[in-house]
Amino acid sequence: MDSIYLFSIDLEDVRFQIKDGRRYRERVPDNTRRYLEWLRARNFKCTFFAAGDVAEAYPSLIEEILEEGHEIGCHTSRHIPLDRQTQDEFKKDLEANITALRKAGVQKIRGFRAPIYSLTAATAWAYRVLKELEFAYSSSVLPAKNPFYGWPEFGPRPKNVEGVWEIPITVARFGPLVIPPAGGVYFRVLPKFLVLREAKKFVGSGRPLVGYCHPYDIDTEQERFMNPDIGDNRFYNYLMYYNRKGVFKRLDAVIGKGFTVLPYCEYVKMLEA
Ligand SMILES: [Zn+2]
Repeated sequence: MDSIYLFSIDLEDVRFQIKDGRRYRERVPDNTRRYLEWLRARNFKCTFFAAGDVAEAYPSLIEEILEEGHEIGCHTSRHIPLDRQTQDEFKKDLEANITALRKAGVQKIRGFRAPIYSLTAATAWAYRVLKELEFAYSSSVLPAKNPFYGWPEFGPRPKNVEGVWEIPITVARFGPLVIPPAGGVYFRVLPKFLVLREAKKFVGSGRPLVGYCHPYDIDTEQERFMNPDIGDNRFYNYLMYYNRKGVFKRLDAVIGKGFTVLPYCEYVKMLEA
């Protein structure tokens, strides 16, 4: 099996990240179930990186994900980027994330994803915490310059850092931009032929295509509001809603290139073999 697509869902509810966010309609369970259906119909298992507050709000959704045989990893407790936490705060936050997931029925927790790929050279202390809390892997690095977070020096390949495997998100060059072709907003906004061109490079390469989506990435009925991670930038907020209706078609087109979707923990077993 040499064409692996490490598709993943970052399971978070943006309403919990903004002031009075619960005045907006609840959308996460329905949208997550649409991903579950999509995965079930194709007989794929993947990884859901779940924030603690989501596990607390929707424990039965976590159960549904587990029942379908998917992996669940951590995405911090309250979706606070790592550079806004100290090492001690991060450890406490992650412990709370683990507790929330365990309460919802998750037994094995092996993986972590930092909010907004906020694991960079400046927050590399996070690997020590991950090792202490017995995480096997992280998928938290965007190995390029980025307006938000990025760690270009890390390089594109999975690497063991202080006993924890880091599986960086796949990036590709488009003119002056180096961005993730299979990640959330970029996956929706890039012209489809470019996404497919980049995906094809991984077919038969032995290297995994690493990508992610959020519940909101497929949500065409969500109320419009400014998203917390990108501040008040109107252009970025416009992109947040762009082409959500096309996501499943694009996912199918990528899969059609000959990929198998695997949970990250299965891929880590291959790295360790
Ligand atoms: Zn996130």
